[in-house]
Amino acid sequence: MSSVPDAFPANNDVSGVSSLSQQLGWQRELAQSIRSGEELLRRLGLNPDDLRTQQMLQTAGIQLADQDILRRFPVLVPENFLARMTHGDLGDPLLRQVLPLSDESLAVDGFVPDAVGDLEARRTPGVLQKYAGRVLLIATSACAIHCRYCFRRDYPYAEEPRRLQDWQPALDEIASDSSITEVIFSGGDPLMLSDSRLQILCLAIDQIPHVERIRFHTRLPIVLPSRVTAELIALLTGFRAQPIMVVHANHGNELVGDCKYALQTLVRSGIPVLNQAVLLAGVNDSVEALEALCRGLINVGVMPYYLHQLDRVSGTAHFEVNRERGRQLIQQLATRLPGYAVPRFVQEIPGEPNKTAL
Ligand code: SF4
Repeated sequence: MSSVPDAFPANNDVSGVSSLSQQLGWQRELAQSIRSGEELLRRLGLNPDDLRTQQMLQTAGIQLADQDILRRFPVLVPENFLARMTHGDLGDPLLRQVLPLSDESLAVDGFVPDAVGDLEARRTPGVLQKYAGRVLLIATSACAIHCRYCFRRDYPYAEEPRRLQDWQPALDEIASDSSITEVIFSGGDPLMLSDSRLQILCLAIDQIPHVERIRFHTRLPIVLPSRVTAELIALLTGFRAQPIMVVHANHGNELVGDCKYALQTLVRSGIPVLNQAVLLAGVNDSVEALEALCRGLINVGVMPYYLHQLDRVSGTAHFEVNRERGRQLIQQLATRLPGYAVPRFVQEIPGEPNKTAL
C-alpha cells in the first residue's frame, strides 16, 4: 500500500534540495508578480489615468473589471510574462489573456461555473476521473498566472487536500483500482508545489505498481521558465513511472527567450512534452497566429497536442470563437504545416468518454 511519510515538511520546506538559492529563485520571482490590471497597463506605458489611454480603452471597448470580479479571481502576472508583451499595445495577445475586463461580470446563456463537469467527476477528495484508466489530482489551487479564460476559475479548491497527510485517502483509492494506469497532476498548477512536496507526492504515486505514467499539466515552463531547474528535471526523471509533460502556450510570442530554453531543456532531458492551447478571440483566432504558435513549438521539440474550443465557463464568453471558425482555421493550418504540427481541435463535453474531436 502506497503511503506518504509520517512526518511532513512544512508547506515550502525545501530541505534536501541541493541548490537552495536556485530553488527559491522562481518563488522569489513569483512574489514580485503584477497584481492589478491598472499596474499591468502602466507597465506597458498605458497609464489608465492619462486621457490618451482612456481614449484608447474606449475605442477598443475595454473597461477594466470591478472589485467584485477581482476579489473572486485576482490578477496575477509574472514579470517574465509581462516582458514578452509589446509596449503600448492594448491588443497584445499576451496582455489579452490576463487583463481583467468588466465583460467577466456578464451573465451569458450557456456559460456556467463548472462547464467541464469537474464536480460530477470527483471520485474522492483531490481526485477526479473522467476517462478510463486515468485520474486527475487537484494537486494545488495555486497558479503562477491567472488566465482570464480559466476553466477552473470557480473550482472549490478549499474542499481539496492541502496538507500532505490529507492525500492518503486519494492514494488508497488509486492503489485499490488496478485499472488506473496514468495519474495526471493538475490543479491549479502542480509545478507550484515545492520540489520536496512534489517529490513526496510523486514517490507515493510511483510506489503504486499499476501506475505506468505520471503526467503533469502545467503552464509554469511557459510563464515562469525559471521553474525548470536541474533539480526539477532530476526529480521528474527519477521515477519508475514514465513522466509526460503537457504545457500550455496559446501564442507564438510566448515562446521566446528563457521560455524557449526551458522547453528545450525539458525535451532534451527525454521527457515527452506536448502543448495544449485554447482558441481565444483576440489572442490566436487567425491562421497566422496558430501557425506561429505551432512552428514555435515544433522548433523546440514540443508537439502541438490539442487546440481546445473554449470551455463555456461563466465570465469567459468574450473569448469564444465559434466552432465553425475553429474548424476552418485548423483546415487552413493543415495546408501550411506538416501533419504532426497540427493540433487536434477538441472540446471537453461533460459525461463523454473522451475529448470530442470537432
Ligand atoms: S494556468 Fe491553467 S489552471 Fe491556472 S489560471 Fe491558467 S488556465 Fe487556469
